Amino acid sequence: MTDCIFCKIIEGKIPSIKVFENEKIIAFLDISPVNPGHVLVMPKKHFKNIFDVPEDLLCETVKISKKIASSLIKAKLAQGINIGINNELAAGQLVMHLHVHVMPRLENDGFKHWQGKAYPKDQAEKIADEIRKAL
Ligand code: 5GP
Ligand code: ZN
Repeated sequence: MTDCIFCKIIEGKIPSIKVFENEKIIAFLDISPVNPGHVLVMPKKHFKNIFDVPEDLLCETVKISKKIASSLIKAKLAQGINIGINNELAAGQLVMHLHVHVMPRLENDGFKHWQGKAYPKDQAEKIADEIRKAL
């Protein structure tokens, strides 16, 4: 896709620091890491996010993300790992080319778990019902 920054990186038009590449998947360092070693893993083919990527390619991307996560622990760049995909603007997706964040975490690195909200009385069952019906 012409105006996609990650497609440009994949095509070699914009530099990146690659850590893994095969026929279908590429992984490179995030330019603005949570901690050193924060890697973005993605299919080389352009898909916007989890809603339009084929399942087998998503599985392949997650498989490589697991491999990268293990390598970060092995390289002692992380004591724990957060793995996440932001999907759509509302969820913080800024680059509209599906990518998995593999984020090295260290004890006391200052990043916090998200603040949870409490369910008002009886709302949890209703919400679960809405989800089950939509599956
Ligand atoms: P999103 O919010 O879309 O899930 O995350 C996009 C990520 O891409 C951000 O963490 C950001 O730092 C990273 N990023 C944006 N532009 C570039 C770039 O040109 N090169 C690299 N390596 N990472 C980028
Ligand atoms: Zn793209």
